[in-house]
Amino acid sequence: MAVNITAYKEIVNELTAKNVTLVAVSKFKSAEDIMQLYELGQRDFGENFVQELLLKQEALPKDIRWHFIGHLQSNKVKYIAPFIHLIHGVDSKKLLAEINKQAAKLDKQIHCLLQVYIAEEETKFGFDLHELGELHELHELSNIKIQGLMGMASFSNDELKIKKEFSNLKNAFDRANQLSTFNHQLSTLSMGMSGDYKIAVECGSTMVRIGSLLFGSRNQPVQ
Ligand SMILES: *Cc1c(COP(=O)(O)O)cnc(C)c1O
Repeated sequence: MAVNITAYKEIVNELTAKNVTLVAVSKFKSAEDIMQLYELGQRDFGENFVQELLLKQEALPKDIRWHFIGHLQSNKVKYIAPFIHLIHGVDSKKLLAEINKQAAKLDKQIHCLLQVYIAEEETKFGFDLHELGELHELHELSNIKIQGLMGMASFSNDELKIKKEFSNLKNAFDRANQLSTFNHQLSTLSMGMSGDYKIAVECGSTMVRIGSLLFGSRNQPVQ
């Protein structure tokens, strides 16, 4: 399936007007597909799998800002640490410690979003608001910059439910900014995908992760 250039332009216009960053989710999509959006000016791309990301990072222009949006295993942090722009979905203290360690080795700071659990029914990874308030060790992890929060709504057609979950996350974001956990303002709230990004933006998202609306559905991994 071809890249949907028309949809891309519409979405970019809509999001730019609202100051929302678009991360084009390119998992399972080819380098050629990514280049089509790159040629139009897109620079933020999201990937879910370390191996796939490494191959693409190697092959594609170096000014692409790569976002890791999948479930990151601690033992793989070292591979992406040298170049990753933002790690969404950091969901455990163990992972935080490992990212800090790898960033320290490179004498850099890695930007991260903490994943917050918002879906009412599904088991998803993440912290809850109470746990965010207890993350005192963040003050010692000087090679990590927590830039904000990330969350995923339930996979559902129930718009009211999705809206409620995103509102809860926006609330958590506003309240997290009052916590002493972070010694700076959180700027990024990553929420919204192809099916629910409009609701997410209404609820205060500052960054959406959109794949299938831009690249078509994902059937087969590209190898
Ligand atoms: C795959 C994925 C997306 C993009 O999903 P679409 O429905 O194709 O837009 C967004 N966020 C995460 C965490 C994903 O894994």
